[in-house]
Amino acid sequence: MNILEDSFGRKFPYIRLSISDVCNFKCGYCLPNGYQADKNDTRKFLHLDEIKRLAKCFSELGVNKIRITGGEPTVRKDFFDIIKVLKFDSGIQNVSITTNGYKLDKKAEQLVNSGLSGINISIDSLDKEIFKNITGHDRLPEILNGIENLQSIGFENIKINAVLLNGINSSIEDFNTWARFIEKNKVDFRYIELMRTGDNLDYFKKYHISSKIFKEYLVENKWIYQTYGKDAGPSLNYINPKYKGKFGIIAPYSKDFCKSCNRLRITSRGDLRLCLFGNTGINLRHLLQKDNQLEELKDLIMKQMQFKKESHYLELGDTGSTTNLSKTGG
Ligand code: SAM
Ligand code: SF4
Repeated sequence: MNILEDSFGRKFPYIRLSISDVCNFKCGYCLPNGYQADKNDTRKFLHLDEIKRLAKCFSELGVNKIRITGGEPTVRKDFFDIIKVLKFDSGIQNVSITTNGYKLDKKAEQLVNSGLSGINISIDSLDKEIFKNITGHDRLPEILNGIENLQSIGFENIKINAVLLNGINSSIEDFNTWARFIEKNKVDFRYIELMRTGDNLDYFKKYHISSKIFKEYLVENKWIYQTYGKDAGPSLNYINPKYKGKFGIIAPYSKDFCKSCNRLRITSRGDLRLCLFGNTGINLRHLLQKDNQLEELKDLIMKQMQFKKESHYLELGDTGSTTNLSKTGG
């Protein structure tokens, strides 16, 4: 089997697939004015058959995990069909989603029944008001109920991500609140450092803070760094025997972040992105139209791997072609 590998020896068993740019939230760092259709790009989002062919191709290239993202992936009407096709009809073993948790309380059971392997839920704060201020929506209770519902059905692979925002959710009290949450809940909670994108420079300047403060908190509170294998991905994880859940840090500005890169991205319109913050991105769509294009598609993707750069250049302020993460599939 061909395995996706770049010129730096990194392997790519993992794809992030955006299925829609549309989102119903207005997170200050991502879509502060809500979703606006791109007038310069009227191409439709990948349809189910294209997604199936794409996944089959990646599966034959050694990919075993696809994370569906967006925009907000759950806004698509055929969202559950997409999960099912990926899970049962494409050869991919692990199908996960990243969601803002909209209506999660109502969707929990159907999500589990569709064969989902894991869910990442974005919750920037457990404080209702702060949550509303960041996302523009008063939806925290339904998201938390959704987590309870998932747990009550026995679904265990739950991760919560929060973007670390200086002066908003980055105090010791905020960290303690999450600690109390994961003391009782078997979920992985991770802070992600706020990333600069083409659209959010002012927000970034105001709220970006290094995750070092959270790392120091973890060390002071006797959390133990958990080492994983070489291909485990960029999250640094911490455990503590007294807690059911784990803590984690995703620090894209840290020196070695890109060394553990194990993922490629596909935008909702079928562009292959070798890096979240790169400038390159060829479209694959013309090779997703018929089943007999599979070999040609595999060749094209394999050839692209030589163009993957060693690192992003975020620390130099270069955000590549990413205007906001809803567009590239965060
Ligand atoms: N709408 C879904 C959600 O919010 O989970 C999926 C798409 S969203 C773009 C994926 C993740 O990217 C979310 O966890 C979000 O908080 C994160 N994100 C968006 N913009 C970001 C930024 N500028 N810096 C860091 N994380 C960001
Ligand atoms: Fe929507 Fe997710 Fe962006 Fe928030 S982070 S605006 S939920 S796409």
